[in-house]
Formats: sequence, structure tokens, C-alpha cells
Amino acid sequence: MAVIEDPVTEQVPVAEDLFRVTADGAALVGTRCTGCGTHYFPKSLSCRNPRCEAKAVEQVDLGRSGRLYSYTVQAYRPPALFRTDSWAPYAIGLVELPEGLRVLAMLVGSELSDLRIEMPLELAVHVLYRDDQGRDVVTYAYAPPAGGGAS
Ligand SMILES: [Zn+2]
Repeated sequence: MAVIEDPVTEQVPVAEDLFRVTADGAALVGTRCTGCGTHYFPKSLSCRNPRCEAKAVEQVDLGRSGRLYSYTVQAYRPPALFRTDSWAPYAIGLVELPEGLRVLAMLVGSELSDLRIEMPLELAVHVLYRDDQGRDVVTYAYAPPAGGGAS
């Protein structure tokens, strides 16, 4: 009997509660203070703004888009905890979000030589490796907007 592979590979996040995929695409899971409006990522249990008296936070989706604030290219193999099926030098970016914070993320979807400070980026789901159960283990990353657009 022929075994037909499931055409849709199940995806599992590399860590819980960092990002989620919605109908509008990937979003980081963060929090926003209901008092002063400060955003946090990863999620914060309370507001850390010393001038804020509210301290109450709610979970929000954030970081769907941003701009490249700075980046570095990692040309050495990451430590064992960072598992990936294929390895090549890759970029880590500090991405400035319109919500007023900067997050570190892998940069994917472009040549390293095409990276530019201030370039627009969109949040993407990036496959790190296929696990023992045939599932794709994914993390969040930033990539140039789909559809390109010469800048
Ligand atoms: Zn606050």
C-alpha cells in the first residue's frame, strides 16, 4: 500500500507565547499597558514604566511590520541550543516597531548584501528544522515585504 505524505506539514513554534499566526499573518505576542500605553515584548506581567501608576497590561498582537534599526551578520555556527537543519551565515536584526520598541530577530528573505538600515520589514514565520515527528519547528523572523517594491 502506498503511503501518501500529508501535503500540509504541521508547524510547531520553537517556544510558546512568542508569536502567533492569525488570518492577517504572523504577529508577535506582546503586552500593552492599559494606563500609559507602553508596549512590551516578550509579554510582561506588569508595566515597568516607573512613572506609570496603572501597571495593568493586556495581551496584544504587535510587530507585524517595522524598520531595520541595525543588524549584524553571524558567520559562525550558533550554539547547540539553536538548532537548524541547514546552516549558512545569517543576519540578526534589531527591528524598530511602530509600537515604540525594538526587537531582535533573524532576518530572512533577502541576500545579506541587500540589507540596509531603515529598510521596511515584515514579520514572517521561518522554519528552523524538521523535528523527529516530521513537524516543522518555526520561529519568527523579519523579511522584506512580500511583493518587493524597489526602494
Ligand atoms: Zn504603564
